[in-house]
Amino acid sequence: MRCLELFRPDQYVSALERVDLDELADMGIRGLLVDRDRTLTAWRSRQLSPEKCEWMAAARERFSVCIVSNTIFRRGVQALAQELGVPAVCRWGLGRKPFRGAIREALRIIDVQPAEAVMIGDQLSTDILGGNRQGLHTILVRPVPGPEFFTTRVTRVFERWVAARLGLSVTANHRPLSDGTCK
Ligand SMILES: [Mg+2]
Repeated sequence: MRCLELFRPDQYVSALERVDLDELADMGIRGLLVDRDRTLTAWRSRQLSPEKCEWMAAARERFSVCIVSNTIFRRGVQALAQELGVPAVCRWGLGRKPFRGAIREALRIIDVQPAEAVMIGDQLSTDILGGNRQGLHTILVRPVPGPEFFTTRVTRVFERWVAARLGLSVTANHRPLSDGTCK
């Protein structure tokens, strides 16, 4: 089904810190848009793992980075963004991913064209669909373990169906998962 292809990420990796920054630079990417919940941190958390902290520091040295979050709880996202020294865009309603508002605003803030940007996130129906619709390179990451908003849990059922239809598996050039499968 052709519309399903809009959900297909260009890459699928096991965690944010597995996103290869050298590879993105070689592709001419200048801007990174990064989802917060279950991509950068656990849901509504400000705590980054040491690995993600290190990856963000390396990313900031080479790229313009912006956090893009679907949330009404702006203060937590802004506080995290401030700690990391990057801007953040928080949207809900019709401005949220996969609609155009949040991603367009983030690109404007970091002054990067869609073709020079990557959207990194853990959800096919928000991060990846939103990025693909606007011509960004898209990278799906496996979600950070933990709880999440109840509507997201419902969306995951649809996303698992889409992932199965698309035959998504973690890319071979990144660390293989312990069981070699993609859940
Ligand atoms: Mg997320």
